[in-house]
Amino acid sequence: MFSRSSLVKTGLLSDIGPSVRLQKHSALIARNLTIGLGLLKKVNKFVVQTVLNCTALVKRIVAFTITSLGVWKLSGLKGFTKTLLDLTLNKDIMDAHLKNVYARFQEQYGSGPGLGPGSATCLKKVEGANDSVIRSLYRGAAALYRTGPWKRLRPGHLFGVRVGKDTDWSGKKQPFSCVQFIGGDGGDLGFYMFRSENDAKKMMGARETIRVPNVELLRVTYEVESLMFPSHRKLIKTLALEASGNDRFPVIDIARCTSSYELKFRNLSFEELRFVYAIMRAISLVHPLLQQDHNSAPKWSRVVCFEPFIETVDVQWPSEMAKGNELVAVTVSHPPGQGYEEKAIAVANSTFTNNIEPLKEETSADLNVNLNGILRQCSVCDKQVHGEQSICCNHCRAVNYCSPICQKQDWKETHKSTCGLYKVMMEREEELAMKIFMFSCSAEQPCKWLESLNLHQKGMWRRKCSCYSHCPYGLLPIKGDLWDSWGGLNYNEYPQDTPFPRDGMSSPILLSGWSEYYHLRSLPFSSPVADILSHALTVYYILTALSISSKNLLLKGKEVIVHYLGPEGELDWMPAFAEISHLLNGMGNIQIVMVGPGVPTNLSGTTSGISSRVRMNLVRGVYQEESTYLPSPHVIVALNCGLECYPIWGGALDLVKSMGLPAFFTDQSEISCANVKQVLRSAGLHITHPVTPNPFRSPVRSHGSSTNFPSYSNCFVLGVNT
Ligand SMILES: [Zn+2]
Ligand SMILES: [Zn+2]
Ligand SMILES: [Zn+2]
Repeated sequence: MFSRSSLVKTGLLSDIGPSVRLQKHSALIARNLTIGLGLLKKVNKFVVQTVLNCTALVKRIVAFTITSLGVWKLSGLKGFTKTLLDLTLNKDIMDAHLKNVYARFQEQYGSGPGLGPGSATCLKKVEGANDSVIRSLYRGAAALYRTGPWKRLRPGHLFGVRVGKDTDWSGKKQPFSCVQFIGGDGGDLGFYMFRSENDAKKMMGARETIRVPNVELLRVTYEVESLMFPSHRKLIKTLALEASGNDRFPVIDIARCTSSYELKFRNLSFEELRFVYAIMRAISLVHPLLQQDHNSAPKWSRVVCFEPFIETVDVQWPSEMAKGNELVAVTVSHPPGQGYEEKAIAVANSTFTNNIEPLKEETSADLNVNLNGILRQCSVCDKQVHGEQSICCNHCRAVNYCSPICQKQDWKETHKSTCGLYKVMMEREEELAMKIFMFSCSAEQPCKWLESLNLHQKGMWRRKCSCYSHCPYGLLPIKGDLWDSWGGLNYNEYPQDTPFPRDGMSSPILLSGWSEYYHLRSLPFSSPVADILSHALTVYYILTALSISSKNLLLKGKEVIVHYLGPEGELDWMPAFAEISHLLNGMGNIQIVMVGPGVPTNLSGTTSGISSRVRMNLVRGVYQEESTYLPSPHVIVALNCGLECYPIWGGALDLVKSMGLPAFFTDQSEISCANVKQVLRSAGLHITHPVTPNPFRSPVRSHGSSTNFPSYSNCFVLGVNT
């Protein structure tokens, strides 16, 4: 297909000023062409056939011929018709002429192999591509289009891509491993895929793609519907294919330049379609994560440079493309040769092994664990030592060291003044442990703890260890129903999606702790669901017990809007949040807006009514930047916030201060809360709700590697502006 700019140049598109003269003529030509075709029908049956077969493209080429050859200069209708007759009376002449015209067209206006009547893959003809495959492809293409890669990406920004393992592909090789986005500077929007980075570089000319003989190039261009072949338009209509943007649709084909520099086009195979699908999905997820590198770009250049980048995401195959595996790990890197360094372990497992499988335990899960037992980290020099070789302060037992040397140094420098305080914090162990539960409440090694409950790598529990850390938050594939989400616990061991049995009174249920909740839900204390419900019930507890204004709104049957900052693993625990709806017990509504960089791009902007009374909005980004667009909240919450670890919180805290709204924070241990207080105070916020144990903390104790403080998810809660 011709690029838009080329059509503009020939006057076939009429939105550019200087070509007014051509426009007039093209209108004339169009009129003449119609008349001409009418005449021709009478002349020759063969011609009629040719003309009818040739579709819009030929009309354009013929019109172009007239224009470019200057026929219109010489003749009116008579000359035109004569030329057309000359051209069409003989098929060979016609073919030769079209070829000639096409070659000249390319010489004058060409932008390389991107140009040309690559008839586009007739997807209907690809073996294995049924209607739903085609629909999925168009959906994938539209999803990518929406992320607007062309806003930032230029042909110089090459990407390396890997889909699954090499052995998944015929020839034991990734079919196309280098991606280039084109059209960001104008012209057709699309992307090209090369078999290697080397191919890509060979074909990159100064301003356009260069033809290199016998090198194949997979092209996906987003074409305006009105410029497409009628057959293609028909396909779009009959299958109700999703448009990209307003009126564009992907056109996919593979182009190759022969040794005589002619272009040949072919259809993709089904395997290649699968490959393109995975790439489109993966790139739409990861390209927004590219960070501009301000240092390395020359000042005079408008082209943006990005920091070296590598990311692996799981892409879910549409059911008709899944060949046994529902998920495939796709790695996208920029520049293409970019390799994992720190992330080497994660890639080794997520990309090159069976993709649907979690990371292997000995390499990634429980990084503080190895085969010989627990690894502890020295709080002074960060060195890792085996549990039995590490030492801790004899007095407080809170801090671990690799050696007496480090211990002595720490004592002199800081620990002398904190040891007493740490001892007090350590002494709260008893008080914080929840004794009502009948399952093991110590998860020193999360994978093993889950295994002991027969929940390892199941349902929502997949977020409780690091086996699925390669899968972005919120994107753990969901299969099955509530029972699967709870990892196959017994029917009576997890909260059913049903109202609480209450005696007709409709009013939010006020809860004092797990014991009351378990009783109300008739859950046995052997059920570990409290560990996952902790986030949802902590939010509910804050709204109904700690924030008086929210409680009053709910009691009046009104809606409470919560800004929930920095969600991560809980993005995969929506069934737990649905429980809030039942607790509201027929009164009031809650809208939770989860905002944070952990929200994946393709979930950002989505709203879901996870249950009748709870609505969830997900927004990707930094709170202070996104808050302007959000409905203003009644309460702000940040769970397991780790304020002291992330400087990015600074801006959010300034905003909390200027809004003057109640904000609640939880953190895992008393020492981290002490740090949170410090950060809040230095942001000018006054702590009005002191650090108190949260009755809805997880009952499962977690373990740090350099300190031994009692630590639980959402252990303590504190608040400002309350
Ligand atoms: Zn040390
Ligand atoms: Zn000590
Ligand atoms: Zn695990």
